[in-house]
Amino acid sequence: MAKQSVSINNIDIELPNCNLFIGGEFTPALSGATFPVEYPGSEETIAHAAYAQPEDVDRAVSAARQAFESGIWSRASAHKRGYLLSRLADLVEKHLEPLARLETLDNGKPYSSALGDIRSVAFCLRYYGQIASTIEGESLPVNDDHLCVTLREPYGVCGLIIPWNYPLLMAAWKLGPALAAGNTVILKPAEQTPLSVLKLAELSREAGLPPGVFNIVNGYGEVTGAAIASHPDIDKVAFTGSTATGKLIMQAAAQSNLKRVSLELGGKSPVILFPDAKLDTALEDVFGGIYDNQGQICCAGSRLFAHKKIKEPFVEQLTARAQSRVVGDPFEEGIEQGPLVSSEQLERVHGYVESAKQQGARLLTGGERLNRKGYFYPPTVLDQVSNSMTIAREEVFGPVLSVIEFDDHALDSIIAAANDTDYGLAAAVYTQDMDRALYIGKRLKAGVVWLNCSQKFDLVAPFGGYKQSGFGRDLGRHALHEYTQIKTLWMRAKP
Ligand code: ADP
Repeated sequence: MAKQSVSINNIDIELPNCNLFIGGEFTPALSGATFPVEYPGSEETIAHAAYAQPEDVDRAVSAARQAFESGIWSRASAHKRGYLLSRLADLVEKHLEPLARLETLDNGKPYSSALGDIRSVAFCLRYYGQIASTIEGESLPVNDDHLCVTLREPYGVCGLIIPWNYPLLMAAWKLGPALAAGNTVILKPAEQTPLSVLKLAELSREAGLPPGVFNIVNGYGEVTGAAIASHPDIDKVAFTGSTATGKLIMQAAAQSNLKRVSLELGGKSPVILFPDAKLDTALEDVFGGIYDNQGQICCAGSRLFAHKKIKEPFVEQLTARAQSRVVGDPFEEGIEQGPLVSSEQLERVHGYVESAKQQGARLLTGGERLNRKGYFYPPTVLDQVSNSMTIAREEVFGPVLSVIEFDDHALDSIIAAANDTDYGLAAAVYTQDMDRALYIGKRLKAGVVWLNCSQKFDLVAPFGGYKQSGFGRDLGRHALHEYTQIKTLWMRAKP
């Protein structure tokens, strides 16, 4: 497939090579299969990407295996791996705008948000480049006749399966620690959003990553993703996506070669709002926490538990803000919300809103797609939701806030309601009573808890779930541990 460009609103966007990337070369699928890639802002097909079948996944695994066993990466010094990751980070920064354009084209997020995402990609790759050489073992106090140390070694070949909501950033969260630790990888972007990752492949060659260290197989989950999850020669699979798919991946891993698994899955995160909170700050946070990225965020604060005393004025203000949000062409300046990623996603989100109405929730704003081309769905507020309704139990992954009122009953029953969910990714509490905030914070069953703040991320801060939101952690030093295994090495110390 030759390089092409597309023109959106008179902006020419150069597309990357849309083949598979195996052993440092772009190559079509052996079968010649392709699949369409769409711009969700106009519903047009903008490219066709090579569609990896199981035999192509085999080729990618062989390339990654060969690169791993050759030692060119796994036995290189950590400094060298770190240096090459930093070079890749520099190239991402150099190509910030073309990468951000691809991200908006593929995913539909506002261009200003895409620029922020790509900056974070560069920071992430550089961070793992910098800490590659801090992967250390221990020396242990065993009997005097021996020396015993632990080594943290890479698993080998890692399959990375990523979602479409932050395509390149989710790739970086996994690529950074996996490569820093000395693994070789096969990455499968989501079928909706392969473009920015393919561009990264081009940059990885320029940065000097050895062939076979970083491979890409595009394709649909049930074929390409499933071939990764069940592959007998992949040592570890790291996944971000829905809980349902996470379960399939874990099953496939168990039934094939018991490959290691880490899963960052869905969420139904509660936000608990007390009357003594700084309500202006809380309003900003609640709003951003559910509507940023078109609501397509796994840790979105989708269940707002608002105290009866302040619920009405708070929700009124929030609804007014929702109504004034600028939804439209994501390449236009000043746009705050673009389209959802696909027609499936639009239908799914709308289906949840309809089911909530049927179950007795009150629609305050939104609730209908915009009457124009593109998968635009406005910020939606549902009031009078109860925690047992489908909308409060299942992940919507769209710009839909459910408001659940609570009264002055015992703290423990609010905590129980917040925890009454299969998920446990994140949670937030707003109250100026820090004793109360900490009491609740320590009892919430979630991998990330925000007290008087929300949606806070940092490269050094681990991110991941409790319960059916998955296990394993992205980010921070913890992520390095997800891509290494421990070898205990004994040595005789007696003549
Ligand atoms: P969504 O339903 O929002 O698309 P998924 O969890 O299905 O979310 O998708 C996240 C990633 O998982 C994508 O890259 C997708 O292709 C992949 N995927 C989907 N189904 C499977 C599967 N059965 N095995 C492996 N990967 C899959």
